[in-house]
Amino acid sequence: MKIFCIGRNYVAHAKELGNDVPDEPVIFMKPKSALLQAHTPFYYPEFSNELHYEAELVLRICKNGKYIQEKFANKYYNGVTVGIDFTARDIQDELKSKGLPWEKAKAWDNSAVIGKWIDLKPEINKGDINFCLYKNKELVQQGNSGQMLFNFDQIIAHISNYFSLNIGDLVFTGTPAGVGECVVGDDLEGFIEDESMFELSIK
Ligand code: ZN
Repeated sequence: MKIFCIGRNYVAHAKELGNDVPDEPVIFMKPKSALLQAHTPFYYPEFSNELHYEAELVLRICKNGKYIQEKFANKYYNGVTVGIDFTARDIQDELKSKGLPWEKAKAWDNSAVIGKWIDLKPEINKGDINFCLYKNKELVQQGNSGQMLFNFDQIIAHISNYFSLNIGDLVFTGTPAGVGECVVGDDLEGFIEDESMFELSIK
């Protein structure tokens, strides 16, 4: 199982971190060990002093494929949820400034959190899915799949030019503006539309 993540997929978020808007999807990966298992507590990573949440829509791959054309890409994923791409922002800033890879900031154990799945039935408009994140009952991030620079199908097609996609792989599709810090004791809750998808407290 592989976890793909898309960076800078919302213009306002790319700008809030001082990055350029990309002309093709920015891809990075997390290993299987990054996925927080159900009923497992989330612990603040000891190597960071600046842990950030990034709420993102996450897709579930349901069909093996490579070199997938955009027009067929919708057959390769069948579920959506909201998740968090936890980021050690202090580590990432240091790595970015040196031009080094991001794994130590983004791919550590339990840095990928996902909620329960919603089956992507044909009646769901994939270009208009609202999601949001609350921190300690306060709204901190809000996004809509229609604001993405690269939509679900474009992301799947692009990834598959480089990597085979396999059943069970996950795709984090990028975070909207509003990323920020969380500390021990914070409670995070993610929603798709009005439905709570996960609740997590930082231990
Ligand atoms: Zn992210």
